[in-house]
Amino acid sequence: MKNVVLLGATGSIGTSSVDVILQHSDIFKLYAVAANSSVDKVAELVRKFKVERVCMFNEAAAKELEKVLGMPVLAGMEGLCELAADPKADIIINALMGAVGCLPTITAIEHGKHVALANKETMVMAGPVIWDKLAENPKSFITPIDSEHSAIFQCLSGRPEKEVEFLEITASGGPFREWPIEKFEQITVADALNHPVWSMGKKITIDSASMMNKGLEVLEAHFLFHIPYEQIKVVVHPQSMVHSLVQFRDGSLMAQLGAPDMRIPIQVALTWPDRLPLETKRLDLPTLAKLTFFEPDFNKFRCLALAFEAGRRGGIVPAMMNAANEVLVDAFLKGNLKFTDIPKHVETIMSNAPTVTGHLSLDQVLEADAEARRLTEALIK
Ligand code: MG
Repeated sequence: MKNVVLLGATGSIGTSSVDVILQHSDIFKLYAVAANSSVDKVAELVRKFKVERVCMFNEAAAKELEKVLGMPVLAGMEGLCELAADPKADIIINALMGAVGCLPTITAIEHGKHVALANKETMVMAGPVIWDKLAENPKSFITPIDSEHSAIFQCLSGRPEKEVEFLEITASGGPFREWPIEKFEQITVADALNHPVWSMGKKITIDSASMMNKGLEVLEAHFLFHIPYEQIKVVVHPQSMVHSLVQFRDGSLMAQLGAPDMRIPIQVALTWPDRLPLETKRLDLPTLAKLTFFEPDFNKFRCLALAFEAGRRGGIVPAMMNAANEVLVDAFLKGNLKFTDIPKHVETIMSNAPTVTGHLSLDQVLEADAEARRLTEALIK
């Protein structure tokens, strides 16, 4: 039996993870869960799965849940990290949203855990720090949950970087793929939340609409697979059946296909290198509609171009870009910002980001994150 700690248990990835664990209750036990503030949902999970340890990021919610369950409930970042370090935990699923996921990932690596990572912001902001931590803790390893990175992980199947010509990350293109750029000024929150393929949390749905999500995924791929940015491409594929591809140096182009169902990459991340049965929809090739592929429009989707730039500049620029984006998406969702202000302000924050050369420390990353939040808040006031 493997004890699974599920950080971000009530979100979209968390819910799918619970389903995968349930389908394999002979090998996985939901040992601990953490969420932000959904007291009722967490209470239900704890009772149903006899979960042994619980954390609520929100302190008030933690107190409330403690009363509801009559068991100790951890709170805050400290609580998340305590679960990530739990001696009885075998796998940490990090499905937290945003920069909050960074420290729990690092803590899990420091404690030699298998991290099944859905929280791409961890890799984006602190990639070089994660590299150091993994080198210092050889027992620990990361398996990606993000569907594109799961596809690349499966196509690579452990082959060395030197055999790779390039990675090709697919993008659905989001709801505005066919909108003319002139209409972008009028984009509403409802328009942006209307994703054509995936049903996800609000932050990642907005990131998909701006294609910042794909930009973050380019950086995530760089740091997960050690492939230079010049060898990472993005291709728009509206059907979202091909989840990403690897072009090898011998001319072979490997792709991973599957129904757009996050339970598949979650299970791969939990059971790799084994493949266990999973009840999901199968792709039936003869009934598939046409599969199409396009070059992304970097002009319309400035965030994608900015992410490549942040990756190439390196240092603390990715952390600052990520933090600025989080603040801006939040403001957009609250109706305090235009959609087109997101790339505009990200660019301003990035242009003022100092160049940091040499070894990147965790403190530098966390400082850059906090500083970019302050600067962005000031900018939009
Ligand atoms: Mg993805």
